[in-house]
Amino acid sequence: MPSIEIHQFPCLKDNYGVLVHDRVSGATASIDAPDPAAVSAAAADKGWRISHILVTHHHADHTGGITALKAAFGSTVYGPRIEAARIPGLDVAVGEGDKIRLGDHEITVLETPGHTVGHVSYWMPKDRVVFVGDTLFAMGCGRVLEGSHEMMWASLSRIAGLPRDTAIYCGHEYTEANARFALTIEPENVALSKRAHEVEMARAVGLATLPTTVQQELDTNVFLRPHSFSIRNRLGMRAEADWRVFGEIRTRKNKA
Ligand code: ZN
Ligand code: FE
Repeated sequence: MPSIEIHQFPCLKDNYGVLVHDRVSGATASIDAPDPAAVSAAAADKGWRISHILVTHHHADHTGGITALKAAFGSTVYGPRIEAARIPGLDVAVGEGDKIRLGDHEITVLETPGHTVGHVSYWMPKDRVVFVGDTLFAMGCGRVLEGSHEMMWASLSRIAGLPRDTAIYCGHEYTEANARFALTIEPENVALSKRAHEVEMARAVGLATLPTTVQQELDTNVFLRPHSFSIRNRLGMRAEADWRVFGEIRTRKNKA
């Protein structure tokens, strides 16, 4: 039995809360702090105490629960240095390459800016899992609110470059809408059509479509596929840089 257990649960409108628990030490990390009541209830359900809060970015749907959770559990709050002033209760400001320990497990900080300029992801290389907040979603990606398309493309490329069997946990359940949009960009992608159908069936009965994997996103996420000849053809961008093709797909999604 692996010593890490991950518990994902829906909260707020379409957010996911995620608890990462080390069975050996009992250490438990909450990835972001969306709804404090939902996160506390999930921890109580499992009999876990939240020792760490790992914040991906400053948006309220990821930080709104920090103060209450910290008061309840005495958790240590980690978050991006660049957004330190906007994250309540921050104890440890982190940046690229920093390591955080959860029991004997190592978490590596990856800077993945674009959605916000300080956005970070938390990668557990040995456990083959990454928590990407609002950078990447299943068949989608976050809105580029503070950074540039080039910056966001670089961040997505880093996630796409992790080992292919890495599980990806994301901040939101946006998969069904993402799939519908993706089919307008790459309708001839058979893996995408198949996955879109599976997602529709899962959502119809209220099942989560996350986590996903690096491999699955490489195959079906149009935001990671600007090299695709059929996408380039459709967009009339045969010779453009990947990040520009990505930017065009992101712009179209904003209008969809
Ligand atoms: Zn956000
Ligand atoms: Fe969010």
